[in-house]
Amino acid sequence: MIPKDHPRYESLLLRARVVEAYKKGILADSGLIAHGRGEAFDYLLGEKTTRNARKAVKAAAAALILAKNPVLSVNGNTAALVPKDIVKLAKVLDSKIEINLFYRTPGRVKLIEEVLKDGGADNVLGTDRDEKGMIQGLEGPRASASRDGVYMADLVLVPLEDGDRAEALVKLGKLLITIDLNPLSRTAQAASITIVDNIVRAIPNLIEAVKELEGTDPSTLHAIVKDFNNQENIGQSLKKISKKHTGGLKS
Ligand code: ATP
Ligand code: MG
Repeated sequence: MIPKDHPRYESLLLRARVVEAYKKGILADSGLIAHGRGEAFDYLLGEKTTRNARKAVKAAAAALILAKNPVLSVNGNTAALVPKDIVKLAKVLDSKIEINLFYRTPGRVKLIEEVLKDGGADNVLGTDRDEKGMIQGLEGPRASASRDGVYMADLVLVPLEDGDRAEALVKLGKLLITIDLNPLSRTAQAASITIVDNIVRAIPNLIEAVKELEGTDPSTLHAIVKDFNNQENIGQSLKKISKKHTGGLKS
């Protein structure tokens, strides 16, 4: 039991959730390490949604509403931390959900499909039953995507994605949105819109933003996306980290 008054209560709770997901086989061992990397950046950012993360969420929501064929890509960490919220977001957007794993095994795919279905998903792409399309520039099982999902999508939301795959998706001309606590990761740098925030806050914030922007005229939505500058936004996250932690230093 984690004591509720522990100063790092939320963070420890998330850690317990990923450990549990690992034990169930939803998360690969390396998913635990990826979570640790995220935790470190969350710590440095103050474990709260920053103003610039909110800006990125608004731009992401506008782009998601405008997209013709958006796909939400789900890996083990996402399934461990926000299975219900991902399904909720897919429902408000009427978008598809696709399982996309770095360390893909039939067992893990099946478990994640179950978790998403338990969370209310009607249809889950990316299982072994799907017709596949190959993503150029990638090798082996990681090159495979669902033909009706990521392969055909004009926009892909890929939280916590590996840099190679993110870069390959951008090269294919897809609008890439990511959620990544490391502002310097290759994925954060490759995406058109990077939400530098913990996925457990970013997905609920996205749902709210989509609800708020629904019904807004397309030209206003286009303007929101166009006005968003990802490099500038990432720079603000880096500034936030350095200001927060060098403010007390004399030199
Ligand atoms: P890249 O391949 O993009 O250079 P990487 O190799 O450092 O990144 P990966 O393991 O490929 O990292 O991807 C995991 C990413 O997800 C990391 O950048 C990590 O900071 C981030 N991350 C981990 N947990 C969370 C979380 N809960 N919310 C948001 N981001 C997270
Ligand atoms: Mg990587």
